[in-house]
Amino acid sequence: MGQLGLFELVVPVQNYADAPTNPVSQDRLIGHTAVISAIALSAIIMLVGTASLVLPKTFKALAGTSVGPSHLLVTALLLNIALVLFGLHRYRQMISEIALHRLAEEEARAMADRDPLTGCLNRRSLTIATDLLLAQSDTGGEVLAAILIDLDKFKQINDFNGHDTGDRILLESANRIAAQLPDNALFARMGGDEFVCIIPFRPDREDRIERIAQGIIEAMGKPIEVNGLQLESTASLGIARSDFTRIDNADTGTIPSLLHMADIAMYHAKHHGRNCFFWFEISMESELRFRSELESGIRLGIAKGEFVPYYEQQIDLQSGKLTGFEMLARWHSPKLGLVSPETFIPVAEEIGAIAALSESLIAQALHDAAGWNAELSLSINISPIQLRDPWFAQKILKMLVAANFPPQRLDIEITESCLHENIAAVRTLVTSLKNQGIRISLDDFGTGYSSLAQLRSLPFDRIKIDRSFVTNMNENADSATIVKAITALGQGLGLPITAEGIETEDVLDALKGIGNIKGQGYLYGKPECADTTRKRLEKANLLSSRAPSPVAEQAKHAKQRRRA
Ligand code: C2E
Ligand code: CA
Ligand code: CA
Repeated sequence: MGQLGLFELVVPVQNYADAPTNPVSQDRLIGHTAVISAIALSAIIMLVGTASLVLPKTFKALAGTSVGPSHLLVTALLLNIALVLFGLHRYRQMISEIALHRLAEEEARAMADRDPLTGCLNRRSLTIATDLLLAQSDTGGEVLAAILIDLDKFKQINDFNGHDTGDRILLESANRIAAQLPDNALFARMGGDEFVCIIPFRPDREDRIERIAQGIIEAMGKPIEVNGLQLESTASLGIARSDFTRIDNADTGTIPSLLHMADIAMYHAKHHGRNCFFWFEISMESELRFRSELESGIRLGIAKGEFVPYYEQQIDLQSGKLTGFEMLARWHSPKLGLVSPETFIPVAEEIGAIAALSESLIAQALHDAAGWNAELSLSINISPIQLRDPWFAQKILKMLVAANFPPQRLDIEITESCLHENIAAVRTLVTSLKNQGIRISLDDFGTGYSSLAQLRSLPFDRIKIDRSFVTNMNENADSATIVKAITALGQGLGLPITAEGIETEDVLDALKGIGNIKGQGYLYGKPECADTTRKRLEKANLLSSRAPSPVAEQAKHAKQRRRA
């Protein structure tokens, strides 16, 4: 369906669009026409008057019975003819000017009601049209469903591929959504990558709305081809119904309330896997409140230094020797206690706080690790969002210099799912990090379906087998097969392996039997804070001889402050 199809699909909005938007200029044109008409009319009257004097005299003069009309009368007649012709000409001009003016005003009004890119209704016209539809459906025993559609990861596509591509995705998405809607639906773009459909339905036929929602999800799930690229862009949907009675809210049934509920349901869909739909329920509001508390807590927590690195031991399985630590983020939230990164990392990513959060953690970790034995490595996790930062490699280099930490001891873990985002950008970054001497590991391997070609095209130094295969490998034959297959793949590609999630001696024995690999897991201890890690290393005589102790350092800082 082309752009015109969208215009056809929405309920006509002439009911409110008929009101003139600029009566002043129209009145002025009509005033001008009246003046011109009055001039032409008086010219015609005068023409009739002068002609009745001139013509008889002219005929008599032609017949030779009288002298002709006076020179003055003839001039007056000619002047009147000219005035009438001029008046008629101007009159015609004015009429066509008025017609043009009307057309321009109608076009301007239509544009003010439409989204210029997709041709859908816009937020303003949707509100007015929904009001009309609500009144109509009330009398027909129907209620309205509002389906709010938000494209998943549209910002990423837009940032990576440019705004032209983004526009093409929006237009194609609008066409695909429109193709799923019944004729009496309203369809609007609310701005950005957010669309709304308003559909009347019988209160007991929720299934009809669900079928439409499912149709939209399926239509949006198919890749969109732009400039030879197959772009994946799914959508999350939230649905609300106009007859939903909220205990706490008196304004049920109004458009803002309907859209607010659909918005909450859409966020729920976003946080429950995306590419799905949910009907609004009251419980979602408290969930959203918790979420917004989490967001502000994270922002405040970064500023207050509540995020700290914890360290998990990494062991050479054959010798049992400690080779280094993986840094894992923890949040000491004054309200929520110790929060897992699985809770706050995705939120920090969504609110654009991940870079600040991660950089503060990396700086702390480099500082801590500079005090460890020079043989020990430090592994850090980075988010796919950081891979998109063109200055990321430079930032890391600056932090390494500031902490006086050798790049050869740093290992950056990139999750397998990053590879699908933009392999070219990842390759550039990985190459520049490797040029600085930093090692790169492929994390959570086995969960992201990367191809052998992708694996070979990037210069990784190590593969980490995801803990979901390792922890239960003695109970689950499939997991054991996957662990063995990944180890063999690593050996084939010359890439060393780390197994995560070793919890028992049995699993350790099984892994030792497979090959020469490194490992980590609760068998060796849970991740520990910087202080506990330091004490562990002190006991094992694995602190750097050059590094000052925290007590000495505190004394040095206090001295510097006193001097200042
Ligand atoms: P990951 O990189 O796979 O980290 C290993 C996770 O497994 C850690 O969870 C660790 O505590 C847990 N783990 C270690 N040994 C065992 C075991 O024997 N059994 C079980 N069941 N689990 C074990 P954690 O600390 O909750 O971290 C979860 C994920 O959060 C990490 O997974 C990593 O992807 C992410 N993450 C942690 N810190 C950061 C960070 O600073 N930046 C970014 N972007 N992501 C981070
Ligand atoms: Ca990791
Ligand atoms: Ca992992």
